[in-house]
Amino acid sequence: MKKNFDNAIELFTLTEEELAKINKYSLTELTEKDIFAFNVILCDNEIDRDFECFDRDALEKLAELFVGKTGILNHEMKAENQVARIYSAEVETEDTHSRLKARAYMLRSEKNSSLIDEICAGIKKEVSVNVAVSEIVCSVCGEDVKHSHCEHIKGKDCYHILKNPTDAYEWSFVAVPAQKNAGTVKSFAEKEDLEKYVQIAEKYKNFLRQEIVKLTAVVSPELSVKSVENICKSLDVDGLEQLRRDCLEAESKHFTPQLVKSKEENSNNNFLI
Ligand SMILES: [Zn+2]
Repeated sequence: MKKNFDNAIELFTLTEEELAKINKYSLTELTEKDIFAFNVILCDNEIDRDFECFDRDALEKLAELFVGKTGILNHEMKAENQVARIYSAEVETEDTHSRLKARAYMLRSEKNSSLIDEICAGIKKEVSVNVAVSEIVCSVCGEDVKHSHCEHIKGKDCYHILKNPTDAYEWSFVAVPAQKNAGTVKSFAEKEDLEKYVQIAEKYKNFLRQEIVKLTAVVSPELSVKSVENICKSLDVDGLEQLRRDCLEAESKHFTPQLVKSKEENSNNNFLI
């Protein structure tokens, strides 16, 4: 099952101790300047939009299962999308609220630079996890509804408690949804930080425009840069995201034979963030 968590990423400064933990996962000795590290909240014990929640023991188990796991983009299990790795994880509890907080690192490579910029700008902040649990329990009668059923209707009479995780397959960065969900906007408004939100949105739109200009140069070289820029100016974030997806799709078709032969040499890999 997949679970999404918003406001998921925080930055921190790397210490020697953290660096030593990271180097356990690396074939070559990495230094501070090779690495971008961040905290990521993977999930918590609150009832989510599917009327489901993990219990605290499940979070503890997931903390063990997630260490060493790779983070990917939008749940696409392709090697080039595996961008970050969790090197430690723990459950934080305050009153009745518990959350699973992991530390992750990624390499400061050219390929990752756009994603790092987006994380720093606060754009990629929703994270989604893909896990398996062996028990799903009704909050009212305690029946294991994974293996049996009960009379209660989820979301109306009860919620479901996710227990005994058996696997954590992966975690994934999710781009800001095309329709900005109320939660995202609300969290900015609460901080009275709307100005920052506008700046971030503008930075994201610029990023999309630049990507589209680069991609169209490859897939539609007959279009002038000026025309492409004019098209981009008339589009909102949703329109820009759609156009970028279309361009990436066109580009992947365009380059399939070469990609198979020499993935490394194809500079267009840089666009696959
Ligand atoms: Zn029940």
